Amino acid sequence: MKQYMIALDQGTTSSRCILFDRSGGICSMAQKEFGQIYPRPGWVEQDAMEIWSSQFSVMTEAMSKIGVSGENIAGIGITNQRETTILWNRITGEPVSHAIVWQCRRTSGQIEQIKADGFDSVIRKRTGLVPDAYFSATKIAWILEHVPGIREQAERGEILFGTVDTWLVWKLTGGKVHVTDYTNASRTMLFDIHKLEWDLEILDYFHIPASLLPEVRPSSEIYGYSDKSLTGTGIPISGIAGDQQAALFGQCCFKAGEMKNTYGTGCFLLMNTGDTPVNSSNGLLTTLAAGTEKRPQYALEGSVFVAGAGIQWLRDEMGLIRTAAESLECCRAVRDTAGVYVVPAFTGLGAPYWDAEARGIITGLTRGAGRNHIVRAAVEAMAYQVYDLVQVMKQDSGLPLLALKTDGGASANDFLMQFQADLLGVPVHRPSCIETTALGAAYLAGLSVGFWQDREDIRRNWSLESCFEPMMEEKTKTELLGGWKNAVKKCLETDGVNAD
Ligand code: ADP
Repeated sequence: MKQYMIALDQGTTSSRCILFDRSGGICSMAQKEFGQIYPRPGWVEQDAMEIWSSQFSVMTEAMSKIGVSGENIAGIGITNQRETTILWNRITGEPVSHAIVWQCRRTSGQIEQIKADGFDSVIRKRTGLVPDAYFSATKIAWILEHVPGIREQAERGEILFGTVDTWLVWKLTGGKVHVTDYTNASRTMLFDIHKLEWDLEILDYFHIPASLLPEVRPSSEIYGYSDKSLTGTGIPISGIAGDQQAALFGQCCFKAGEMKNTYGTGCFLLMNTGDTPVNSSNGLLTTLAAGTEKRPQYALEGSVFVAGAGIQWLRDEMGLIRTAAESLECCRAVRDTAGVYVVPAFTGLGAPYWDAEARGIITGLTRGAGRNHIVRAAVEAMAYQVYDLVQVMKQDSGLPLLALKTDGGASANDFLMQFQADLLGVPVHRPSCIETTALGAAYLAGLSVGFWQDREDIRRNWSLESCFEPMMEEKTKTELLGGWKNAVKKCLETDGVNAD
């Protein structure tokens, strides 16, 4: 009987399920979008029941598309939007409120309070995170404070907390298992990534009872079995990782210094730093990486706020292109940007500049600058921002960069990949399977049930679709980077320009 691994890929806007075979090939896929709730400006919520029902329905759909049942499934791996927070009643299984999504800014005031209390350095040291409303801690505290009667129930041990992985495992096992993995725990802002345990002092600071919290386990082991009433037979649930860490694993970045970048709406750059947690002096996050060992490895993480979103902006607001893919033709239609730079700081600039008030600019316009130059400058801006992040990552980790593995929607752009290789001076590798997030979850789950034997077994599956070798002359590169630095400098000067 042919066997498959299931990856449940629970993302911010859609739930997906992919069935993989032993070669890492995609055999079936189903996807469903679900609702986003915006109760007030800056607030983002989701219905936890809809997260579950959409995820379960795509799982049955992907299985029935190729006519397989529970017996054909060797295991289930879960990867998920990180930090999104769900609290539910242990007895009834009912969520006590909507899920508060990672993007939700409702608790940003509390972050200011943390800084005023001088508690940010404690959080930074123990959790590896720069305190922010993204992470689960302040979201849990908000629900406990604002949903009537919940604190009392929580004190009585009747309430459970989970990130989306935890919620899905709990639902899949019919309410029997309450766990999370190291990678998801490391995004709650409650977990000591050095001692690998929930931090009692931080829990106390946020008034969060420890009874709410799931047990934290490695990313690759059998946590429990799916309930027979759902899947006919009990399928082992055998791997969990947050989306970016799953992608790092799916890209086979197993060794210290190996790095991947995902080019999506924003960019997520993760570097495996091995057994050593690296403290960043540039505001990068230290986080736990997914692995098969009992003790997890560490990773450094940095993000670019606006990457592919800059291309969407060219399409939707500026009307310069009809599709994102068309940007490639524009890039190729001109020899260079004619000195034009786009700095898409729509929501400020992140590492290494950290200026939340900076705003986007286009510089270097001359009479001859046209549509193609501006589009090309926006595409190049993705590569420049990733270049800046890579430099601080190299500096913080002291590790050399040998190559960059890429995935995500905008990695389809060959010009961008070549330009990235030129700037970094190392090869850029784009794999055949760019569904690396789901693949990573499948690998973690498959390794713990023997579907794959070891890391070498899966490394053999990783196949290169394209390798972009650096070709640019050093002199040109230095000039271009100098121009980018100047453009960023002008962009930083926009800070406060609009304030009155
Ligand atoms: P997300 O997972 O963040 O929704 P995806 O990985 O699906 O994003 O990537 C979509 C993003 O990539 C969009 O912002 C889009 O503008 C950009 N994009 C897609 N194709 C291209 C392309 N050929 N060139 C440049 N950008 C692209």
